[in-house]
Amino acid sequence: MDSQLHRHVCPGLVINIQRSNGLIHKATVKTVSVERSSVSVEWVEGGAIKGKEIDIDDVLTINPELAELPAADVKENLPLQENVTVQKEKRRTTLSKIPAPREAMRGRSRMSVITESQCSLQENEMGVDPCTSTQTRNNSSVPAGQTRTSRTSCAPEASVTNVNGNTEDHLPAARMSSSVSPGTREPVVRRKSNIVKEMEKMKNKREEKRAQISEIRTKRAQEFDSSCPNWEFARMIKEFRATLDCQPISITDPIEEHRICVCVRKRPLNKQELLKKECDVITVPSKCVLLVHEPKQKVDLTKYLDTQAFRFDFSFDESSSNEMVYRFTARPLVETIFEGGKATCFAYGQTGSGKTHTMGGDFSGKAQNASKGIYAFASQDVFLLLNQPRYRSQNLEVYVTFFEIYNGKVFDLLNKKAKLRVLEDGKQQVQVVGLQERQVTCAEDVIRMIEMGSACRTSGQTFANASSSRSHACFQILLRQRGKLLGKFSLVDLAGNERGADTSSADRQTRMEGAEINKSLLALKECIRALGQNKSHTPFRESKLTQVLRDSFIGTNSRTCMIAMISPGMSSCEYTLNTLRYADRVKELSPHNGGGETRNQMETEDEEGTCAEGLGLQYNLSKDDDEDFSPHMSNFREAMTQINEREEKLVEQLKELRQRMATELDYLLGITEQPDYDLETFVSRAKYFTEESSRNFLSVRETLDALGAAMQLEEQASKQMRWWKP
Ligand code: ADP
Ligand code: MG
Repeated sequence: MDSQLHRHVCPGLVINIQRSNGLIHKATVKTVSVERSSVSVEWVEGGAIKGKEIDIDDVLTINPELAELPAADVKENLPLQENVTVQKEKRRTTLSKIPAPREAMRGRSRMSVITESQCSLQENEMGVDPCTSTQTRNNSSVPAGQTRTSRTSCAPEASVTNVNGNTEDHLPAARMSSSVSPGTREPVVRRKSNIVKEMEKMKNKREEKRAQISEIRTKRAQEFDSSCPNWEFARMIKEFRATLDCQPISITDPIEEHRICVCVRKRPLNKQELLKKECDVITVPSKCVLLVHEPKQKVDLTKYLDTQAFRFDFSFDESSSNEMVYRFTARPLVETIFEGGKATCFAYGQTGSGKTHTMGGDFSGKAQNASKGIYAFASQDVFLLLNQPRYRSQNLEVYVTFFEIYNGKVFDLLNKKAKLRVLEDGKQQVQVVGLQERQVTCAEDVIRMIEMGSACRTSGQTFANASSSRSHACFQILLRQRGKLLGKFSLVDLAGNERGADTSSADRQTRMEGAEINKSLLALKECIRALGQNKSHTPFRESKLTQVLRDSFIGTNSRTCMIAMISPGMSSCEYTLNTLRYADRVKELSPHNGGGETRNQMETEDEEGTCAEGLGLQYNLSKDDDEDFSPHMSNFREAMTQINEREEKLVEQLKELRQRMATELDYLLGITEQPDYDLETFVSRAKYFTEESSRNFLSVRETLDALGAAMQLEEQASKQMRWWKP
């Protein structure tokens, strides 16, 4: 058996091996020793290459498919060897891209690897002969629409497949001819019976192996909670994690100064998710890297994981507290406002991913603990700095504002949700007219304001219809010196990003809300990118959110931080990937201003050896795919803009009309109260009033018609968009 196996096991072949802890994973054969009846293998673990020697019998037990390979002599192995070399070369080219070329990286940080755990097991389970299925595997190992080049195939499947795939067609024929030495004339029947015997032997072996594998599978299912609907994925993820040496962020990690800092935070699985036995598909292997194990299924129903790696300035796992997140995200920005600068911090993500928890404070039951959120931590540090000798004598005063932007309109959360107007003067200075600024003198004052504003934000909402998920909440800390604004820190709890997809909803209200959110999140991304690239043009006018934060996106002393919040559950996987792609693009660094930043991070990562490169993952470039440039989308956006403008105009006209009419009517009626009023003056004044009113009403009517037309346009565009969308 051994000698036969030696003919199949050759250097370069990837096989399954079992570790002393029982874990089975892939490794590459390096040498084959016929004398010692063993092979030596190598694999990558925690950034280091590891190896061991394994008895050939053990190889066969764990890789039953090897015994089923048709025997080939050394000469016939030649094409096979070549193939392995090609494969090795291919792997080397792919691997040599790690670390990725710096120019190509440009701060992008996505990587991907496809892991198919125990694919032979799955195939056997479905009764598919591993030999005949290799070709299918070859073709379907990458789901349609994915580019192979963007992935480093950690799954040794590729190597095994290629080795087998290329040989299976011609080897049986070669073997048949080689079993008859030239010149001998053995009877055909004898040859046939030999072949039949051999085939029967192979069949028996195959059945034996299947039984063995099915036994292993049952054992594994018992080890895992098989009532968990996705236990197979859970097992694959567990196995993946077992190969990692995770080193989460620690309080002693250094904090680098970034103009733009993009981080990611994974929250723990919540009660409902735990009840549903949701599978946690997120792994945070190091302080900068986050992996998404995306569960996938091939056409032949084989389950596999497509693990994608993202790199950010910091990544926080489920054990990180709000304090820890604050320390690395908003805290480094506090000093900026004392230096006369503007700072912004955004919580971005899907509804339920932890934005409000992080910014506003955690909840125990229904009560919010406002003292444990980033708003409060930042305010506390402002007071700490304020009381330091260097600032104490500067007559600085602290004020806070708290407002909500819902559907392009601003509401004051510190003044019973009063609707406010946003005005822009000739110098592009944006003002939120009437926004309440409350002076605060200690952290407790601030906490009271946060509680008041948060209660105002959520009052009158049912959970299912929480408008908080459809609005951006902005808490600002203003530093004034003798009345003059010195610095400003805006902390924004953004609307749930999944709401941006509501543009194809059946009712206009939801559609418009969705479009507004979509527009504001895209504009925000562009404004932050413009800030990072020191661009002179900031597209702030695209949305109310960016308009009111305009002054924070310009100037040399403006800094920003974005925390992408993600839910760990498998059912959130798609939204999680969207969130990460968005965050990834926010910090797209231009070569001249950000290359250095990226390079430093890469080098730090390399030194630590805990980054994704060490795992054999490869960075890939993501393309901007969140912007829909279809003509229907642009019609829809145009209609939206028209609706907003005309609605605003209408409201202004009606308000003015109310005022004029009230004043004029009061005046006219006042005249009639007098005992000896002049009837002629009264009649001519009243006539003038009615004529003017008619003109005003006509003007209102025109605006109404225009608004109606815009509404129709929006309806048509949204229908076409629904039809057009794939
Ligand atoms: P969002 O504002 O993004 O919609 P929330 O902040 O309201 O989400 O969080 C949803 C739920 O998850 C809340 O019950 C919250 O307390 C809980 N939660 C969020 N993040 C965490 C965390 N890091 N640790 C514990 N619970 C969390
Ligand atoms: Mg929220």
